[in-house]
Amino acid sequence: MVLADLGRRINNAVSEVTRSNVVDQSVVDTMLKEISNALMEADVDIKLVIQLRKKLKGKIEAEEEKPGVNKKKIIQKAVFDELCDLVDVKEAEVFKPKKKQTNVIMFVGLQGAGKTTTCTKLAVYYQRRGFKVGMVCADTFRAGAFDQLKQNATKARIPYFGSYTESDPVKVAHEGVEKFKKEKFEIIIVDTSGRHRQEEELFKEMVEIGEAVKPNQTIMVLDASIGQAAEAQARAFKESSNFGAIILTKMDGHAKGGGAISAVAASKTPIVFIGTGEHIHDLESFTAKQFVSKLLGIGDIQGLMEHVKTLNLDQNDSIKNFQEGKFTLRDLQSQMNNILKMGPLSKIAQMLPGGIGDMMNQVGEEETSKRFKRMICIMDSMTKTELDSDGSLFIDEPSRIIRVARGSGTSVTEVEAVLLQRNMFARMAQTTKNMQQNMPPGMGKN
Ligand code: GDP
Repeated sequence: MVLADLGRRINNAVSEVTRSNVVDQSVVDTMLKEISNALMEADVDIKLVIQLRKKLKGKIEAEEEKPGVNKKKIIQKAVFDELCDLVDVKEAEVFKPKKKQTNVIMFVGLQGAGKTTTCTKLAVYYQRRGFKVGMVCADTFRAGAFDQLKQNATKARIPYFGSYTESDPVKVAHEGVEKFKKEKFEIIIVDTSGRHRQEEELFKEMVEIGEAVKPNQTIMVLDASIGQAAEAQARAFKESSNFGAIILTKMDGHAKGGGAISAVAASKTPIVFIGTGEHIHDLESFTAKQFVSKLLGIGDIQGLMEHVKTLNLDQNDSIKNFQEGKFTLRDLQSQMNNILKMGPLSKIAQMLPGGIGDMMNQVGEEETSKRFKRMICIMDSMTKTELDSDGSLFIDEPSRIIRVARGSGTSVTEVEAVLLQRNMFARMAQTTKNMQQNMPPGMGKN
């Protein structure tokens, strides 16, 4: 079962409850059973599933006793929270590289896990955020490793360092890091060699490279398709290389991804990114809330806004408005402009509520991009007052819709679609605001 199916099944189970006229014990039990089955089929450890079911049941029962509660809302929120809990590593401190100083990031992992590919993805990720990034190939074990890194780095225009002649990986790693340090690189990513199995030799080499380059952060790259076995592999590596974070690769379309994430969470090491494809941009930062939002297809506007923030794009007041539960047509226009500037639309579209994500899946990237531009064009034809409104004045005076359609060379249906899209964003804004207000301090503010 791929993750999208898991999300769909959980959603269906919860929808059954919200559709029922009476929410009694048997309706809740059926939902709990279906959610548990879906999670187990997605390779989540049975002990974790039993635990989640018990907690969920307890939470729903405790909440329903309070006077005046909306039982359906409580169930929806409890499911969301418990799923977050399942994949969340609490108390973990996540490393954040600082500008204007050297941050060395060392990668470890088994051969084939996706280390070299992920090094380049992470380099590109930080480069897009204004860091000066270099990559060092300390894999002298596998023939062709340097060529692979070189090829990836050249394609992504990232400076690299490696050697065809030196066979000592510790020496190459040290030289590379020193060279980039002298040239005031802010992030230096060191790719180390992998092995087919967890061998003594490999662990010894990792320790030596670690001592030579003194990484600020060591990241273990783990293939998500191994599912629950991820926990044991992470533990074996942890004994020798004290890594602080994990990147799970091959999360695209893998049935066992859910199992890998919950297994890693149980091992108390934070997952910082997930790899979702072979392309250079197929890397997504990971937080439990964003992951669960996406899994359940409820959009992740908060994540999108944060994404926009790190890219230093046009902000206006959109983020502030969104956090206050407002969303005008102008906000929609500015966010759409940002989205077009942000690169691969497919990654971004998944963060959006209903309409756009579906559009992306149905008509593909190019067509979605075209439709986006038409929507922006529609908003360009609106007056200042219209743009700063919630769109209700179009409903009061439908002639405005006709005027805008004519002015932008589009159709009435397309203008209406823009208004609908704003409504969806506004609803998301309101939900996010409500959720944050209902949560204890510190939660819900990714
Ligand atoms: P390394 O031996 O650990 O350095 O692994 P590589 O970087 O050479 O990757 C091994 C294979 O996995 C390559 O074919 C990559 O294209 C592929 N790969 C890496 N990350 C992902 C991912 O997130 N999704 C998919 N589908 N393939 C990936």
